[in-house]
Amino acid sequence: MKLYIVATPIGNLADITLRAVNTLANVELILAEDTRVTRTLLEHLNIRKELMAYHAHSRPKEIEKIINFLRSGKNIALVSDAGTPGVNDPGNYLIGQLLKELPELQVVPIPGPNAAAAALSVSGFPSDRFYFLGFPPHKKGRQTFFKDIGETEGTVVFYESKHRILKCLKELKTVAQIGERPILVCRELTKQFETFYRGTAYDIEMALQKNKNNLLGEFVVVIGPKPKKQSLKA
Ligand code: SAM
Repeated sequence: MKLYIVATPIGNLADITLRAVNTLANVELILAEDTRVTRTLLEHLNIRKELMAYHAHSRPKEIEKIINFLRSGKNIALVSDAGTPGVNDPGNYLIGQLLKELPELQVVPIPGPNAAAAALSVSGFPSDRFYFLGFPPHKKGRQTFFKDIGETEGTVVFYESKHRILKCLKELKTVAQIGERPILVCRELTKQFETFYRGTAYDIEMALQKNKNNLLGEFVVVIGPKPKKQSLKA
């Protein structure tokens, strides 16, 4: 009785591990955030498999169904629409609930793509320690989110939607007050229009505004550490 947590591509379909393919081909059931998205991936991989939707709004009745599948000895894979399930995607709540009912359940990671790790890996910023903050809140708590970034000295990684990426860069200047810190904004990682914007919040705001197509797609923001004050001593 195993539950495999399978990472899937964040854009480029070639970014799937051999182990992920084997796992998806060999489990009895795949839990998918959106079955249509996962069906496209499975068609690409030539895998035919029973799919069941599992997402943030799944009800206890559905969790009960999953528990019964596992009790009957079936192995299950959990995938999200893209990347690593459980990282800003449904999964962790389900795992917690399943472990309560089935403490002997083996939860096995099948690691692979993750947008935050991909962005951090090309940032050039210190990554021995970093803060991952998920998405900024849309409304309530948004000011606090950016104020907290202003008080954080180390590398910070977060996700932002195309609808708020320009607003976010402004807030990094005005609310977080980190106009001087180096930033990397990654757009459409691993996809056809993959673009990296490096500079201060102001530089990147200007670059994104140059063309409305620059505001399309998915974004990860990485903020470099606070620059060290130059000593006046020789
Ligand atoms: N679980 C996913 C992972 O492991 O990367 C993250 C899921 S989160 C709901 C989706 C957000 O991740 C997007 O809104 C975007 O901010 C970021 N993201 C996902 N794929 C991306 C890509 N190809 N390029 C840039 N950002 C991406």
